[in-house]
Amino acid sequence: MRRAWFALALGWLALGVLLAVGLYLEREEIEARERQRLAHQARTIEINLGRQLDAVNHVLTTLARDLQGLPEVNPVWLHERLTAFNDAMTGVRTLVWIDAEGTVRAASRPELVGRNFAERAYFQAARAALATGNLVVSPPFRTDLGVWAITLARPVPDATGAFAGVVTATLDPEEFADLLDSVRYAPDMLAGLVHGDGLRFLVRAEQPEPAGADLAQPGTVFMQHRASGQAAGVYRGVTQPGGVQRLVALHTIQPPDLRMDKALVAAAGRDWQAIFAGWRSVALGLGAAWVLLGLAAAAALHLLQRWRVEAWQHAQALAAQEAALQATNQGVWDWDVASGHVYFSPVWHAMLGYANDALEGRLDAWMSRLHAEDAVGARAALQRHLDGAAPFYDSTHRVRCKDGSYRWLHDRGRAIAHDAQGRPVRVIGTSSDVTEATQQALKLRETERVLRHLMNDMPIGLCMVDEAHRIYFRNRRFLEDFGHTEAETPTLHEWTLRAYPEDDYRRVVGRTWKQAMALAAHGGGEIPARDYRIVAHDGTLRTMAIGGLVFGQHFLATFVDRTEQQAQSEALRKLAYIDGLTGLANRRHFDTTLQAEWRRCRRSGKPLALVMLDIDHFKRYNDRYGHPQGDETLKAVATALRTGLARPHDLVARYGGEEFVCLLPECNLAGAYHKAQALCRAVQALGLEHKASSVADVVTISAGVACQVPDGESTPEALLAQADAHLYRAKQAGRNRADDGTDVLS
Ligand code: GH3
Ligand code: MG
Ligand code: MG
Repeated sequence: MRRAWFALALGWLALGVLLAVGLYLEREEIEARERQRLAHQARTIEINLGRQLDAVNHVLTTLARDLQGLPEVNPVWLHERLTAFNDAMTGVRTLVWIDAEGTVRAASRPELVGRNFAERAYFQAARAALATGNLVVSPPFRTDLGVWAITLARPVPDATGAFAGVVTATLDPEEFADLLDSVRYAPDMLAGLVHGDGLRFLVRAEQPEPAGADLAQPGTVFMQHRASGQAAGVYRGVTQPGGVQRLVALHTIQPPDLRMDKALVAAAGRDWQAIFAGWRSVALGLGAAWVLLGLAAAAALHLLQRWRVEAWQHAQALAAQEAALQATNQGVWDWDVASGHVYFSPVWHAMLGYANDALEGRLDAWMSRLHAEDAVGARAALQRHLDGAAPFYDSTHRVRCKDGSYRWLHDRGRAIAHDAQGRPVRVIGTSSDVTEATQQALKLRETERVLRHLMNDMPIGLCMVDEAHRIYFRNRRFLEDFGHTEAETPTLHEWTLRAYPEDDYRRVVGRTWKQAMALAAHGGGEIPARDYRIVAHDGTLRTMAIGGLVFGQHFLATFVDRTEQQAQSEALRKLAYIDGLTGLANRRHFDTTLQAEWRRCRRSGKPLALVMLDIDHFKRYNDRYGHPQGDETLKAVATALRTGLARPHDLVARYGGEEFVCLLPECNLAGAYHKAQALCRAVQALGLEHKASSVADVVTISAGVACQVPDGESTPEALLAQADAHLYRAKQAGRNRADDGTDVLS
């Protein structure tokens, strides 16, 4: 990638160098050509002007020879001659014959005759040039008519060779304007004539340039030319006036057979900038094109590389994805939103049993295969992602297979390219077959529904608590039992406050439950049921067996109301100790209590008294009044006995049949005897008719009393036997009485 950039830069630079060299060479060529052309033009001026000068010189020489040695000049003849020459020569304004004193003796213009030009520089120069015979060229001067002129003068010797006068020809430089104009080939071009001492007396240019400028100033091309010593040369430099850079060809006009004291110089020049104006615009254009070409090439390379990288990455990603998904049996798709074309991978097709490309990459082909119940949802999911409302397109739906059956596909995709407005233009994603999982999930959901139904209708309370102790499920029975709605007791904490209002008990329960949970978590997860006393929502205290299951951070608690059960078992327990007919303690209860009281009194050294009681002639009663009536009498007697014993520690029990026994702890013999007598009176006082009795016509009882401070030698059984013995004595003594055996002891 870097190599391409390097090559591009190198190529571009090479092109630049090539262009620069080409332009440089072109410029050189332009300059060389220009120099050549200017030199040529200067030479053209030189040749033409040289001829003119030659011609003038010829005329002057001829005149000089004619006049030479003439003793007297006929002015008329001379005037005619001068006029004839003057007319024949264009560019010559005036021809004049001046005598040795400087007086004009004859002229092509008669008005000049008689004037004295002895002071004129050319006259003096010509007189001085008599020895050499040179043609004198005067410095340019302004004529009376205000135009520039130069005068050519030739000395004329007399017969003796002495100075006789001067013939002059005044040239009108304007006559050369046409010549100068004819050599100008460009608007910026300047053509001119310069006197040997630097005065430019004629110049032709696009813009009128002042004639009469003095070019003999340092740095000018004229000075360069003069310094070069050459007859012709092309120079680049500042020209006066104006200081414009020019390329100027200068050519000294010096016809070989013409000896001039001061040469004239022909000039042909061009504005330096103008020469290269065309070249410069081409160079600028080429430079700009070069820069643009570089930029365009760089942009093109950049785009090409990006496109190639993207294409490569895309291909790589797709290949990698396909390879990865092939393994997981996932199909890939790649949707170009604008065209609607979708690439479905081979795996995608295979999942549904289609041949490769059976959908022809058409989105509508996919949509038409969606299950009627799922189509709306799937499209909506896709649209949501396109609208930017969902970060992913995610949908689970049924798609029709080739064989007409449906399979559940889970699609997940996202847009990977967007247009300038941010709308997705390309969406890629995967489809995985989730048919089994979905069917499982549906079954699971059904199972869950059934379970929930069952749980709700279970005859035991159920609730489920999450890791935050929130009670998130309560079945009907739970609500009935505790009545606390979710609003009232959202968490376990609120529930315990109501269920266990007593602080101490709640603390105990909390500890116990926590231990049970910890054990369950480390064990099989089962919390063994335990009884807790709970205040139900009707305010009653209930006994609940609470157990459950721990799963993860959650637990299920089961509440079995054991209140009734406990009451029943209490009843059963009581049944074992209570006589069913009379409600008094039974024989077993009595035996147990006797043993316990015996030990207790033995420890405390207190007496323990016993009273054995037996209904008098009860056999006869049954015989007379019937057995059921006998039972009623037994109950009545029992009640009388219970009522008769007021002390909480005293116990009265049905000892068997129609026999009763009273256990009186911490009671001495006298007290017991007294109590026994009172009991006998109480039964008689009931007034239960007993016509068959020999003792009275109401039911009576007899009592045997015994008392002892328990010790190591005696036994409870002995005490019982003693009381029984004393009962026997009471019967013997006539019944309806108590006997404590005192008369035996006394
Ligand atoms: P005594 O004055 O000598 O005690 O005469 P008695 O008839 O009471 O003699 P005894 O104590 O031997 O009689 C026991 C009778 O009590 C026999 C039985 O009919 C009656 N009896 C025992 N248990 C019950 C009972 O549960 N219900 C009824 N109705 N009668 C009972
Ligand atoms: Mg009896
Ligand atoms: Mg009896």
